[in-house]
Parts: sequence; C-alpha cells; structure tokens
Amino acid sequence: MARTVLVTGGNRGIGLAIAQAFLKQGDRVAITHRGSWDPAIAPEIFAVTCDITDGEAVEAAFAAIEAELGPVEVLVANAGITDDTLLMRMSEDQFTRVVDTNLTGAWRCAKRATTKMVRGRFGRMIFISSVIGLYGGAGQVNYAASKAGLVGIARSITRELGTRNVTANVVAPGFIDTDMTAALPEARKAEILKAIPAGRLASADEVAGVCTFLAGDSAGYISGAVIPVDGGLGMGH
Ligand code: NDP
Repeated sequence: MARTVLVTGGNRGIGLAIAQAFLKQGDRVAITHRGSWDPAIAPEIFAVTCDITDGEAVEAAFAAIEAELGPVEVLVANAGITDDTLLMRMSEDQFTRVVDTNLTGAWRCAKRATTKMVRGRFGRMIFISSVIGLYGGAGQVNYAASKAGLVGIARSITRELGTRNVTANVVAPGFIDTDMTAALPEARKAEILKAIPAGRLASADEVAGVCTFLAGDSAGYISGAVIPVDGGLGMGH
C-alpha cells in the first residue's frame, strides 16, 4: 500500500537516498530542504523549503505536504549537522545549534506528525541517529548528545503511541559515504576504516534499505529499536 512519506533533509546525502528508495517502491514522497533542490534529480518528489530549527517553517511544510500528498504517514527525521570541536573549546552556541537541529528539530517534526498518525491509526517514525550517539566521539559532545537524545524520543513515543499502531525507531549509521564524511581529514578517515570490522564505508542506499523495511508492514511489531548500520563499528552498544 502506497504511503505518504516525509524525509527531512532529503535533498542530498543519506536523506536523498532514503527519499529515492521510498519513491522506487511507489510511495508518495516529500522532502524538506534548506539549501538548493534540483527537481531534475527526481521530478516526482514534492520538495518544500524548511529549516527545522524554525517551528513555523515546520508547520508550514507539513501543511503544504498534507495539501499536496495527504497526511504524513512515514516520517524520516534525517536532517542533521555536525560542528565538531573539543569540549574545552566548544562554545555554548556550537552545542545549542547542533542540538537544536538534530534533536529539537526531529522533535518538532515528530510532534507535528503525531496527531494525524494517531487519527489515521498508522504511523512510522524513523529517527536517523549515529553510531556516535552511543559510542561517543572525541570532539563531538554536541553531536553525540543530540543523537543519543533521539533514542529517548523514539522510546518515549513507543510507550505513548504503541497501542495506536505508531512505531518509532532509531537507525544508527556508522560512516557513510556522503558530504559529511568527505569533509573528514584523510588521516582521520584511515583511522576510522581500521576500526570498522567491515573495512569500508557504507553507501547511503544501505541506510535507505533499513528505513523502507522499518516503514513496511513486516516491521509493524518493531518499535523503540536502535538499528545499527555501521559494519560492526558500534557492536555491544
Ligand atoms: P549531509 O550533510 O550530506 O546532509 C544533511 C542534510 O540535513 C541536508 O539535506 C541539509 O540541508 C539538512 N539540514 C541540515 N540542517 C538543517 C536544518 N536546520 N533544517 C533543515 N534541514 C537541515 O548529511 P548526511 O546525508 O551525511 O547525513 C544525514 C543524516 O545522517 C544526519 O542526521 C547525520 O547526522 C546522519 N549520519 C550521517 C553519517 C555519515 O557518515 N554521513 C553517519 C551517521 C549519521 P541543506 O542541504 O539545506 O544544508
């Protein structure tokens, strides 16, 4: 059955791969983007401008998507940023900005999606976290805190809405080949590769496949789970 799917930050990277995977299986797909979006990439995608740190922009984006495609049944909270630096150098603004985007931004979207999901007796929320959320990362106190917080959000939603056929799960990617990891220094990349049992980075499609699975009928009894897509990097966490 075709669903209405929203992927935040779906204009590039992992988000775009997720949007395209849902599109490929016949769903109605909306993305939010802050920067540019080239409709030639996928003309079927309904793209809305939205900065998820702005509650009014989130409200307007949902209203536009509902008018065009109907209520959001599958939310993939993917938009995220990093702003790495050691704790002793991290400004409060660097901490707050990352948390406001990665954690509060996801919360804004989840809250807005909830009423319609409950009313429709169907909802799938998927939060894109990171291996760093549970593993930690030197220079990533802000990012790790924001990504760990998503586990608390998903598990609380699971307890609140479990009886309403709304599931909430966390996908925790390891190192994926995107702009975010391309920005890492080569020496750091080599160090990371050594630590990954799979010995390679993943493609964004490998994250997307887990998202379509979690949104599908066969995953209806999976909720509050943290699913790693990390080649074994975070094992045991
Ligand atoms: P990219 O940097 O390639 O893309 C980030 C996306 O988030 C962009 O679409 C960007 O939009 C959007 N975004 C950022 N800030 C905002 C905002 N305030 N409002 C709306 N949209 C925003 O990242 P990836 O594709 O690599 O990462 C996607 C998600 O996966 C992130 O949450 C990231 O933390 C997570 N992740 C990534 C890993 C990796 O190895 N790449 C590993 C683990 C987790 P715009 O184009 O407008 O800037």
